[in-house]
Amino acid sequence: MTEQPTTDPTQTKEDPQETKPKKKRVKKPPVETRISCYNPVLANKIKHNKIIEPFDLYKQQLQILVDQLLYQPTIPTLLGKSVTSQIPLPSRLSQVLAKQASAIARSIKNKVDIANKAQNKDKYQVEILNKYITRTIKVNVNSVNIELDSRFISITPNQTTKLCDYWIKITSFPKKSFNVPLRLTNHMKDLIKRGYELNTRAIRINSNGSFGVYFERPKSTPRQGHRTLGIDLGIKNLVSIHTGHQETTHPCGHKVDHILDKMVTKKSGSKNFRQTRRELRQQVNYSLKHDIDWTGIDTLIMENLKSMKANRDLSKKLHLWCIGYVIGKIKHLSEENHVGITQVYAAYTSQTCSVCGHKDKSNRHEERFVCVSCGHTANADINAAINIHRRGANSPSGHKNSIHKS
Ligand SMILES: [Zn+2]
Repeated sequence: MTEQPTTDPTQTKEDPQETKPKKKRVKKPPVETRISCYNPVLANKIKHNKIIEPFDLYKQQLQILVDQLLYQPTIPTLLGKSVTSQIPLPSRLSQVLAKQASAIARSIKNKVDIANKAQNKDKYQVEILNKYITRTIKVNVNSVNIELDSRFISITPNQTTKLCDYWIKITSFPKKSFNVPLRLTNHMKDLIKRGYELNTRAIRINSNGSFGVYFERPKSTPRQGHRTLGIDLGIKNLVSIHTGHQETTHPCGHKVDHILDKMVTKKSGSKNFRQTRRELRQQVNYSLKHDIDWTGIDTLIMENLKSMKANRDLSKKLHLWCIGYVIGKIKHLSEENHVGITQVYAAYTSQTCSVCGHKDKSNRHEERFVCVSCGHTANADINAAINIHRRGANSPSGHKNSIHKS
């Protein structure tokens, strides 16, 4: 429909109000989103089963569809009625399922394509290619969440009883509608105190049956100023700051590097694995919060995601390290503290001398940096952080790369 514009496209740009309101989505002002976990098991066991049982059926159907889609030459983003009508779930839920199946299949196919093109394939890439050719990729959909939007849920305040603060009304999941009581947790109350509002039109059902409740507030504007901090993210040191500071550990914990080594030995998805992942996240949270001087700076300068992924040291452990988690956490902390983020392309920052600027592969000796030109020695990650800081501080378009705006 949108491919047949009835109005002059230039005019459309100048006056978005003129275009058909139904087809052009009105752009919402940017918001900061937080998710708060809520466990309805505590609320009502029978109702909880009403959620869990269809969810099991959902996952089962999702698995079938993902396996079907994965080996198709091209995987469509939108699957037609011919596909959705085959799914033994209500049509609205089938549409959600088809969309999710397509997204999962496409993301795996994307990894396969990247592995195919890679010049020097790593162990993980060789493995995924072999599995793709022999059609033996096992997609585990057990850890998926379902996002339910306003077609399925509405949240209204409970003003009649003291039983709960809100009612979550769930419809079409799969049949009759039912209400789940929502009692605000301490975390939710804290969010509200900080200016967040409950999003009454969306909810996430997590793989373990708990709810993810959304909270939003208008996006804050980062401070404008010149107090900048350059950081390098890595495995040996989660953070290295251009000022010389590096990752510190949680009082009773270990560094990220150590936890990752432990994680490699655990079976993915096992209880031990999940426990170690929790430990990893705890350390990430601790380090990012304490090692970066959030209240003393205006702008944080860091490597952009693209160059992080190109960094082989990082990408080897990437799937375990959950870089998305680290980036998300940095984004949250920067929002909370009104700090802007400048992302720079960080190629060669680990090979370039931060004193004389000489670029050479042999400058790097594992964790030490020794410049073959001027003899400057430093911790390799700190040297990189200084280079990153310099690149961001010198970049006139720095703020345009801000994560805040993406
Ligand atoms: Zn040098």
